[in-house]
Amino acid sequence: MASTCITLTITPVHFPPASCTFEQLATQGAELNDTQVVLHGYIGTRRDASKSLTFAELHDMTLGSTVQLVSTPTKGVDGSDSPHSTLRELQEHSPVAINGTIKARKAPSGASREIRAGLITSVEVKVDNITPLNAFPSDIIMSKDTVFPPEQRHLQIRNDPAVRNALAFRSKAARIVRNELCEKHNFTEIETPLLFKSTPEGAREFLVPTRAPGLAYALPQSPQQYKQILMASGIPRYMQIAKCFRDEDLRADRQPEFTQVDLEMSFASAEDVMRTVEAVVKRLWSELLGATDLPEAFPRMSYEEAMSRYGSDKPDLRLGSEIQRIEYMIPVDLVKKIGPLNDPIVEVMKLSIAEDANETRKFVNIFMDSPEAQPFIQNPHGQPGIFIFDTRKPLQGLQVFGFEAAEALEDMLSLEDGDLVIIQARPRAEFSGGSTPIGNLRLALHKAAVKHNFIQPPQGFAFTWINDFPLFSPSNDAEPGQGGAAGLAATHHPFTSPKTAEDVDLLLTDPLSVRADHYDLVVNGVELGGGSRRIHSAEMQELIMREVLQMSDARLKDFAHLLEVLRAGCPPHAGLALGFDRLVAVMMGKESVRDVIAFPKSGRGEDMLVKSPTRMTEGQLETYHLRLKE
Ligand code: ASP
Repeated sequence: MASTCITLTITPVHFPPASCTFEQLATQGAELNDTQVVLHGYIGTRRDASKSLTFAELHDMTLGSTVQLVSTPTKGVDGSDSPHSTLRELQEHSPVAINGTIKARKAPSGASREIRAGLITSVEVKVDNITPLNAFPSDIIMSKDTVFPPEQRHLQIRNDPAVRNALAFRSKAARIVRNELCEKHNFTEIETPLLFKSTPEGAREFLVPTRAPGLAYALPQSPQQYKQILMASGIPRYMQIAKCFRDEDLRADRQPEFTQVDLEMSFASAEDVMRTVEAVVKRLWSELLGATDLPEAFPRMSYEEAMSRYGSDKPDLRLGSEIQRIEYMIPVDLVKKIGPLNDPIVEVMKLSIAEDANETRKFVNIFMDSPEAQPFIQNPHGQPGIFIFDTRKPLQGLQVFGFEAAEALEDMLSLEDGDLVIIQARPRAEFSGGSTPIGNLRLALHKAAVKHNFIQPPQGFAFTWINDFPLFSPSNDAEPGQGGAAGLAATHHPFTSPKTAEDVDLLLTDPLSVRADHYDLVVNGVELGGGSRRIHSAEMQELIMREVLQMSDARLKDFAHLLEVLRAGCPPHAGLALGFDRLVAVMMGKESVRDVIAFPKSGRGEDMLVKSPTRMTEGQLETYHLRLKE
């Protein structure tokens, strides 16, 4: 009871509005000498120099700056108790309003330097009155180095300027995106419903049960269908910074709810969308990172080329180490010795780890002993062959492929001392999926070599568009998705158009070789986003769903609204979505999207602060006509 009373007495209902910002203090400095101001902020460290002289910091969160307060015993402006004694009783981190008088100090440096350094050195503030606005409790210990758990996300944010910076950066990025699209390219920002409908597009959805027995909404995995409906509704260009929901495994730094910069353009081709997105990205990079040297147009690479040269559909082009096919160089009987595969494709890549073969050997040992090596050692198609080039024993090891092949490889790869040569077999088949084992090994080896200081981390930003994806990928449809009985699923989503008339011709005869008018934007090995030109004819959309994917009538019915909308003279249209969390994380060089989200979910999809999800009560189950399985 006692503590309730204290809290109530120190928590004022009214408090004076701030009359001056910390930015003004820092930039106008001594010009403000003797001005009376009201400042809002948090009390920082206090130093009682003597009984009658106290210094305390007042922190501002907007700029992360601090001004020094000076206090001597006086009566408060309203005749209240001495603010001096109030200040001396205040717990650090408590929010306050300070009535004070600005006093100039000898300014040692320029104003902008003062803001960056945090402490404003040109002025201090003599305390005339102090209004405590709440008390920071003594049972919470918060110092610069305190690490708070996710349950105390509010204190993580409050105590870590890096998190607040990330949120501020994100906010600026969102403003730039809106400005570029809406002001410069005539997009209209339109909100689309979050209470959508279950229409299997690819990912598992979150359902929202309603009070009507058996009826549920689904949260959108993206605003894909609504934005296409907007195109059919005569909206020329749509954009939205949209919340999306996917109930997927949360591996690989995914969140069940995330944000997309979503856009769609009517009477537009893939080319128009790529140009528009390049403008947005270049503006973001130039305004927020000062990078004005991005290429006029980003390079493009087909899916096939990305998979064969880098073993990934989102290649990190900064790493070099291109993959090359070599099975034709190796005598047939020796190829068979590479692993269990009969007629494999054999690929090679080189990584320059060190100039001394012994150093490279050390690195290989570290890597092979690490858990990261396990998936490669256990590859059912055979372990990678790992060779270290050493001029003292040239071609040693590689000679298992025969002297001629070893020599040809040395030439082909221009091998130098300490180079690491990796050889890996894979089945002779079309590429499918996002990566090959040698592509994954390329990334894992580079990452480990950086981690253990054998090579420098790659620098800069290397953008590329990946296009010419296959329209369909093999699928067993065990996963929730749009696939039907044909054992196929749309690689992007089922609304993506075949690329050319020749691709349309192959739809019924050889669907796996149909190319999609689909493009992904990749930077430094990260997929920033993807999009496509859409099918805008109802007949074509129905043909793909019914005949190619062989969706059941029930599944097709889920998309009846879309077919009806396309039928109403829908113009050609194309669009794309950028993963906004990932984009901000990449721009800021953050490892995880969690670092740029105010309230991220844990690896188990929980919000540790509010403690969600929660168990449904009997009453709620009743309301929604639900029963838990025994
Ligand atoms: N809706 C798609 C996605 O979320 C993006 C697009 O095709 O515009 O990946």
